[in-house]
Amino acid sequence: MRMENKRMGKSIYELCSKIYPICRSITGDGVRRTIDIMNEFIDVSGAVLNTFEVPTGTKAYDWVIPEEWNIRGGYIETLDGKRIVDFNENNLHVMGYSVPVDTNMKLAELKDCIYTQKNQPDAIPYVTSYYNKRFGFCMSENKKNNLKDDTYHVVIDSELKQGSLTYAECFLEGESDKEIFVSTYICHPSMANDNCSGLALMAGLICRVAELKRRRYSYRFVVLPETIGALAYLSQDNHLELLKRNVAAGFNLSCVGDDNDYTIIKSRNGKTLADRVLANVLMDTGRYKEYSYLDRGSDERQYCAPGVDLPLVCFCRSKFGTFPEYHTSLDNMNFVSEKGFEGSFAVMGNVFDVLEINRVYKCSTIGEPQLGRRGLYPTISQKGNYDEVFPMRNFISYADGTMDLIDISERINCPISKLEQIIPKLVDGGIIGVAEKEGN
Ligand code: ZN
Repeated sequence: MRMENKRMGKSIYELCSKIYPICRSITGDGVRRTIDIMNEFIDVSGAVLNTFEVPTGTKAYDWVIPEEWNIRGGYIETLDGKRIVDFNENNLHVMGYSVPVDTNMKLAELKDCIYTQKNQPDAIPYVTSYYNKRFGFCMSENKKNNLKDDTYHVVIDSELKQGSLTYAECFLEGESDKEIFVSTYICHPSMANDNCSGLALMAGLICRVAELKRRRYSYRFVVLPETIGALAYLSQDNHLELLKRNVAAGFNLSCVGDDNDYTIIKSRNGKTLADRVLANVLMDTGRYKEYSYLDRGSDERQYCAPGVDLPLVCFCRSKFGTFPEYHTSLDNMNFVSEKGFEGSFAVMGNVFDVLEINRVYKCSTIGEPQLGRRGLYPTISQKGNYDEVFPMRNFISYADGTMDLIDISERINCPISKLEQIIPKLVDGGIIGVAEKEGN
């Protein structure tokens, strides 16, 4: 598995670098092109992300799908034709959803349409204006301070039209209707960790799940623009009712490609299966940070909202908003790494594996079972011989038909990777059995 994780870390990084240059927004061709590239990647596994279009003007609960935005270019140039910034060099230079413009502007007037990050004078900030029609340029503070001419020529070759919002879904059926739900967002232009990383990791995870020989759960992967896309998705095709009925655990992927500590942002409820399984796997992995729902910021805001309330957590390495590169041109392919992806892929893979084997167990004897006559207790008493016996006896002590594997692992402070080796021996010995109904 370790070799497989390493190989996948490398291919996920390569996929990330392929989708990184594309200009995406909450609508438009960049979203479609990105999904096409993800599909080329997952094609080998036989799975596919099917795309769906929600027309401009469609209601999504309290929101309405906006006009579709596409852009071909944009620049600021001196009157003798010297380019100051060019969209084709870095698509962060044009504010997302900018209306078209082609005019000469006085410097003072132009400066009102320029956005910079004062405390990071070399970085280009990521700025959007989806719901107020305006145009703008983004550049480094240093570049802005170097503008000296009286008048500049500004051009944005963009288009807002009656079109649609695009989302995509890949459903992999399992033995149960109960499902694992994984979501990530696709609306950010050229930034690597936030959130080309989520898209690339999701493609890797789809391959992993598609290639499983046996799936107890069904798996649903969705890719959509943040906020408006999540609301559009929930409001379409009875998805809300379907997910409320079937989702056993859900995960929103955000900023999963860097090499820093892992992060869990807990669900609103805080104690769902998703909260428990991710915390359990991360505990086994090493250091991680935990945030409550008060620190939410991505699509968990919709998936955990009152009336939706899915058992869903957000998984990150560095949490959005906490790293200096966040929402700037510094969040580039140097900020993410093969190793970062390898780790995130391994964590989510372990999460799926644990969910697949998670059961409520019940001990079949009254009082402690006699392990010795089943060959489960060392017949020679010497230190070192008891490594497996203590967790085994602890496991039996809590297998009371009310706690699942994750609960017991946490309660007896023993990783599931270890319990996984013990349980088959106890089942074979007739000491414990599965107590739960199918589907958790
Ligand atoms: Zn973001």
